[in-house]
Amino acid sequence: MKVLIIEDDENIVESLSLSLRMRWPDVVVSSTGMGEEGLQLVETFSPDIVILDLGLPDINGFEVLRQVRLFSDVPVIILSVLGDEDDIVRGLEMDADDYIVKPFKKMEFLARVKSLVRRKNVPVDLTVYERGDYKVFLSLHHLYYKENKVTLTKSECLIFYKLIQNANSVVTYSGIARELWGDEYPGSIEAIRVYVQRLRKKIETVTGNNAVIETKSNVGYIFNLQE
Ligand code: CA
Repeated sequence: MKVLIIEDDENIVESLSLSLRMRWPDVVVSSTGMGEEGLQLVETFSPDIVILDLGLPDINGFEVLRQVRLFSDVPVIILSVLGDEDDIVRGLEMDADDYIVKPFKKMEFLARVKSLVRRKNVPVDLTVYERGDYKVFLSLHHLYYKENKVTLTKSECLIFYKLIQNANSVVTYSGIARELWGDEYPGSIEAIRVYVQRLRKKIETVTGNNAVIETKSNVGYIFNLQE
C-alpha cells in the first residue's frame, strides 16, 4: 500500500507515518508540505490513498483536491481543523472521500484509511438497488428518484444504501458507523451528522422533500419511504 501525505506540519506527518507503519509494516509513505508538489506526487508516486491538509503554504488543499479530481479518483482524506465544519462540507462536495478533524486519535485515522483502501478494492460493477421510486447505482454513486438524478459521494452512497434497506425503521448511529468504517470511534456521530446533512440536501434536490431522512434524537435516523 502506498500512502501520500500532503501536510506542512512535520509533527503530524511523522505521527501519521508512524501509525501507518505500525499498522501496515509494508506501507510505503511519501510526503510533502507543498500543494504543487503533492499534485505531482499523485501522478508520479500513484498512491493508493492521499491524506490532504487543507491549509498549505503554496496552494490550499481545496485547489489540490480540485486538480487531483481532474485526472484521478484516488481516495482522499482531508485533514481539517476542529470547528471548521464549512471546510469539511466543501471538501466533501469537491469529492473528498472522508475527513478527519485535527487533533485526531490514531485509531480513528487508521480506521478511515482501512475502510477507503478496502472500498477501493471492491470490483467496479453496475449493481443497482431499486426500492420505491428510488434507484441507486452502488459503484457509480448515482441516485435516481423517478427520472431525477443526483451524484453522491462514496460515503453518502453507503449511508443511503444502509438507510433505504432499512426503510421505515430506525438505523442507529453505530449501525451507520460500522457500515462506513467497520467500527465506531470517538467523533463518529459528529461525522455521520455532517454526511447525513449533505445527503438530505441532495435527496431534497431530486424529491423536493427535506423530510425523507428523519432524525431520531441521539439514536439515529429513519428513512421514510412510501411503498
Ligand atoms: Ca497546514
